Amino acid sequence: MARDTGAACRKCRREGQKLFLKGDRCYTDKCAVERRPFAPGQHGNARNKKMSEYGMQLREKQKARRYYGVLESQFRKYYEMANAKKGVTGENLLSILETRLDNVIYRLGFAMSRPEARQLVRHGHFTINGKKVDIPSYLVKPGEVIALKDSSRSLDKFKGSLEANGSRPAPKWLDFDQNTLTAKVVALPAREDIDLPIEEHLIVELYSK
Ligand code: SF4
Repeated sequence: MARDTGAACRKCRREGQKLFLKGDRCYTDKCAVERRPFAPGQHGNARNKKMSEYGMQLREKQKARRYYGVLESQFRKYYEMANAKKGVTGENLLSILETRLDNVIYRLGFAMSRPEARQLVRHGHFTINGKKVDIPSYLVKPGEVIALKDSSRSLDKFKGSLEANGSRPAPKWLDFDQNTLTAKVVALPAREDIDLPIEEHLIVELYSK
């Protein structure tokens, strides 16, 4: 399965903000955005660079893609799905991205970052409605129940992550039971449930050209 393997910190520096792709390190002063707050490359530190309208739209799309770890072709498919649905296309797009299984695992606190959540899903640690699902791009639906597999419950990794992420509550569209380590999807995420600083209308403008 294709995935984006570019250097994580370069992506954050390129977008000029933290994308939280490296877990613990992102919260320390070792974070590359804190240390070198300018774009990577020879001209990254140039001042007074004015961005065109197209440039702003492109950067917003790249930022959203990188937050969720989605390749261009898949991202375009999500846009087409969003466009075909009723409602506001940009909000539909974010809602679709948010329901990816790897994102859900991150939101529930089982992983320190989305890339780590993706790996944990690939390793088959989770079930949906009792059946193992190891596809990070699987889109969860209302009514489905996501659970940590019985044989994975004793792993220190999950205990550590759930403890470390304790202050980051699960979003309200996921009903998470800390005792059984299961979560029910109670609704599709609405725009106000998604706390990422993405201006989705710029992405829609880019793809509508
Ligand atoms: Fe981004 Fe985390 Fe690297 Fe900081 S440490 S630049 S937030 S991936």
